[in-house]
Order: sequence, then structure tokens, then C-alpha cells
Amino acid sequence: MEITEISFVRGFIRMCNDGWEQGWHERNGGNLSYRLKPEEVEEIRPFLNTNGEWKEIGTDVPKLSGEYFMVTGSGKYFRNVILDPADSTCILEIDETGSKYRICWGLVHGGRPTSELPSHLMNHEVKKDISKGKHRVIYHAHPANVIALTFVLPLTDEVFTRELWEMATECPIVFPSGIGVVGWMVPGGREIAVATSELMKQYDVAIWAHHGMFCSGEDFDLTFGLMHTVEKAAEILVKVYSMTNAKRQTITPQDFRDVARDFHVTVPEKFLYEKSSPERP
Ligand SMILES: [Zn+2]
Repeated sequence: MEITEISFVRGFIRMCNDGWEQGWHERNGGNLSYRLKPEEVEEIRPFLNTNGEWKEIGTDVPKLSGEYFMVTGSGKYFRNVILDPADSTCILEIDETGSKYRICWGLVHGGRPTSELPSHLMNHEVKKDISKGKHRVIYHAHPANVIALTFVLPLTDEVFTRELWEMATECPIVFPSGIGVVGWMVPGGREIAVATSELMKQYDVAIWAHHGMFCSGEDFDLTFGLMHTVEKAAEILVKVYSMTNAKRQTITPQDFRDVARDFHVTVPEKFLYEKSSPERP
């Protein structure tokens, strides 16, 4: 059996390629990580090298000690993952202190895990805790419409959540807890990782101004679908504000409460504020 025949590896590769085909991964943009289930670690054990050198993560994630992750490589291109996953991705193990990792498979021509590894692992740590182990996928992409909106809307959780919810009835059902927004920061380090993981305590979606988006979810379908839904809503919003500066009609706060009731989701009241004008915020 080849490692690429294993279900989670196939799912990981497919998600990378789906993101590439959406146009969210120019050059080496974006990164993906998946926390393996215990039975999946056993399934791939014959492929793992456990003599690798332990390296510093750059932050501490003690609640992830002993966990295994599949992640994309730093400087690797999403469009190449499907052609040669052993070159573009890796499987790594976290040590018992949660401060080091070692590569157990992949990156066969050298390289490092994604430069956003601190953000991914800190988000995983928060989400593993809050979801009681259900969330396993963290996905970062560069979808153009969401990024465009970070130049024209106020960078607040309330405005981004409300404006995107109004663009499609499915939105408050797909991301009922809303969206967090981080102002522009230098990527790749601990500071932006801390800011993002702080938002992930409340939300499954975080937007990085003038950069892109992070999504968290239970599996590949849900996490890709979340990214896709938010970006589709952003595309509609860009079209709306390209045609007019003021909406003639929209989904109202009471409409959202009605949807939440019938679809058994909780929508925080902080997003259902009264607007003073139908114009662009
Ligand atoms: Zn990025």
C-alpha cells in the first residue's frame, strides 16, 4: 500500500488541489494542517521515520504534546501537492513538552514545515480544547474578495460578520459564531499567532487584513466549505458595492433570529445591531 492511498492523505491532497483550483494559492501562498486521529497514526506508522532531529516550533503548545500533524511545506506550491506530495508536504510529531517537532515523513528534497506553523499549532491547541477534540483542520488561504473587503470595510468583527451574513441566507447557519478580524501584522511569527488563536476561542474564521483568511473545522469538507462560503459571500458583497453604495433591501436582524431559531443555531446579538443607514459601513 502507498501512503497516498490512505484516506486522510488523499483528503489532504485533494483539499490542496481544490484550493489551488479556486485561485486562492498564488505562488507558494497558503498553508494547511491536519491533526491525525490515533488510528491514522497506527495506519501510517510503517511509513514513519522516528530518527529525525527535534526542532523548535517557536512557541509552546503543551496540549498538543505527542500529536501528529500533516502540514504543507514552507515555500512549497499548492499546485504541486497533487503531483508530488512527498516533496510538498510532511507529517510531523510534537514532542512531550509541546515546544519541538520532528519530521517523520515527507519533504524528501529538504525544507521546513509551513512558516505559519506557530499560528497553525496555536489554533489547533485552542480548537482541540474548545471543540473537545473534534476540530482537526486549520486552513490558511488568500481569497481575493475577502482581502479586497479589508481595504474598504472597518476592520471589526461586527461589521465583517454582519455584512457577510447578509450576503447569503446560508451564512449565519454555516458560521453562526461569526468572523474575527486581525489588523495588518507581520506574518509568520508568534505575535500574529497569539492574536489569531485569541480570536479562534470565539470564532471558526479569522481574517488577516490585506493578507487572507484562517478557517478551523472538524474535517476537510467542513473546513474547505467554510472558506468557500465566506469567500462566496465576500464576492457577492464586492459585486453589490460595485453596483451601488447602498442596499435597497437586505436580510434584517429579525430575519437572522428567525433563521437561527429554525436551524437550531445561536447567533450572538452583538452582530444584530440596528444600522443607521443602508450605505456601506
Ligand atoms: Zn498567507
